[in-house]
Amino acid sequence: MMDVSSPLWLEIDLNAVQNNCAHILRETQTPLMAIVKADAYGHGAVEVARAAVKGGAVWLGVARFGEARELREGGIRAPILVLGAATSNEVDEAIARDVTLALYSFETLELYAARARRASLPLKIHLKVETGMGRLGVFPEDAAAFARRVRAEKNILIDGVFSHLAAAEEPDNLLNALQLKRFQSALGALQGTGALPRWIHLANSAAAFYLPQTRFNLVRVGNVLLGLRIRIDEPLPEHYKPALTWKARLVSCRRLPAGWSVGYGAEYTARQEEWIGVIPAGYGDGLRRVDGNAVLIGGEVCPAVGRLCLDQTMVLLPRAYPIGEEVVIIGRQGARSIWVHDLAALYRASQVEVTSLIHRRVPRIFLGG
Ligand SMILES: *Cc1c(COP(=O)(O)O)cnc(C)c1O
Repeated sequence: MMDVSSPLWLEIDLNAVQNNCAHILRETQTPLMAIVKADAYGHGAVEVARAAVKGGAVWLGVARFGEARELREGGIRAPILVLGAATSNEVDEAIARDVTLALYSFETLELYAARARRASLPLKIHLKVETGMGRLGVFPEDAAAFARRVRAEKNILIDGVFSHLAAAEEPDNLLNALQLKRFQSALGALQGTGALPRWIHLANSAAAFYLPQTRFNLVRVGNVLLGLRIRIDEPLPEHYKPALTWKARLVSCRRLPAGWSVGYGAEYTARQEEWIGVIPAGYGDGLRRVDGNAVLIGGEVCPAVGRLCLDQTMVLLPRAYPIGEEVVIIGRQGARSIWVHDLAALYRASQVEVTSLIHRRVPRIFLGG
């Protein structure tokens, strides 16, 4: 019936990732940490990381230690920073696998020191400074004391210092300047203890592009790497390419009589004889049960009708289509396109929420790279 192994799949264009890296490097003139947390926002962490390294990224960033392990087990040898917390077992494994951890509190300092002493092997850390995100980090006034304590531990190496901006998508927000000032005061304090660590980083995608003074010597980029917009209402320059396309095959196409109901709760009724198609994707795959869903079939926008099901969605077709006809859920078809930012706007969600929540049961097919 169909010439693909799955009726629903993602195509991840690794050439787009590599291309985007090259443009980020050219436009920021700063070494790049490719952020590949949450399975590279649902795109596939190992493959995206490999493409990013090919594209010139010198660091990889993840949120959890398990994500770093996945990259190492995938054969990736580039430096990896875990931005979030690690348990004591994970600290041991970080030492063994040469993964760099964020040091963000007295508790993490004590834990890392104890595990590194026990292993008699070095643990690399980046000191995380709290500047206004209110999440993780040591206050700028404590940075010098931390640096001295860390340097007293011969098995902990301070390789970097970083912080995270809370409002970089709004370049005029006064918090940006305040956070930069606090970060600089932490840097000043560290300098006062001897030397600054090798890597200094503050910028995510938004800051790397909107706030060049926050680039220091490393930018941490997730969204733009994948061709996702910085703000959903602002297009990226044309040379950035979206990496993700979501496709399906039509699994049913039938003519329903006027007055025939469609879906749970019979929320839709055919107004006349209508061609109703079924696509094998539902809210269990990462779509959402809101009004306004649509897909592309035959180069035309076909609205979803009736309530979305867990595994399937019914769509109103302008005419009959053969079973197996290609359906685009995210991407371009002919002159029409539906992008991640369109779905994000429809769902009142971030683009990262849209792509990260595409269920693992949807196979990822990697192109290029
Ligand atoms: C997720 C994350 C980033 C990347 O953010 P983008 O907006 O996707 O570029 C950078 N830094 C930290 C600390 C993060 O958690």
